[in-house]
Amino acid sequence: MKRYRINPNSAYRGKECAVCSERFIPTGSRSLYCSDLCRLWGLITIKTQEECWPWKGTRNRDGYGIYKFSGGRTTTAHREIYRNLYGGFDPGLEVCHICDNRLCCNPHHLFQGTHAENMHDMAQKGRAPPLLGEKHHQAKLTEIQVREILRTDATVPHVHLAKKFDVTPEMISLIRNRRNWKHVCV
Ligand SMILES: [Zn+2]
Ligand SMILES: [Zn+2]
Repeated sequence: MKRYRINPNSAYRGKECAVCSERFIPTGSRSLYCSDLCRLWGLITIKTQEECWPWKGTRNRDGYGIYKFSGGRTTTAHREIYRNLYGGFDPGLEVCHICDNRLCCNPHHLFQGTHAENMHDMAQKGRAPPLLGEKHHQAKLTEIQVREILRTDATVPHVHLAKKFDVTPEMISLIRNRRNWKHVCV
């Protein structure tokens, strides 16, 4: 993504970006945000992790948010958010919603899969992406329990917590090392 930052040594102070507060050089079509990425975030209403984050910009015929790059190329807003935030973005795959809200841009509600996989998952298994933890129907833990695990003093051994919450010590290790349930804030 293009950025239009100001040389910090320059006397020209430019304008403050409405999203990241960095100084940038405003032009007619680029008057509020320092970059395409900040413009993208500027069009999303950010709420709590559990809630959907609605897209405020234009939408396409299918009801998805449409994002236009400064170069003129367009993409869907939720796809661009996913591409920017998650490693391993696969351009060949769709970005899907676990919340079924096409305008939602909450990264915690997005995952990648093929169209067929997506349909299969939703219909057959009722499965949510592993990223979301609790919504996965196989999840044994709740977000409240995960928070409790994360808040427990590091000197308490994995096995002790594993017994308490009826999960494997490996699971406790994954949670404590922030490999699993990454979206839960302590
Ligand atoms: Zn910015
Ligand atoms: Zn959502």
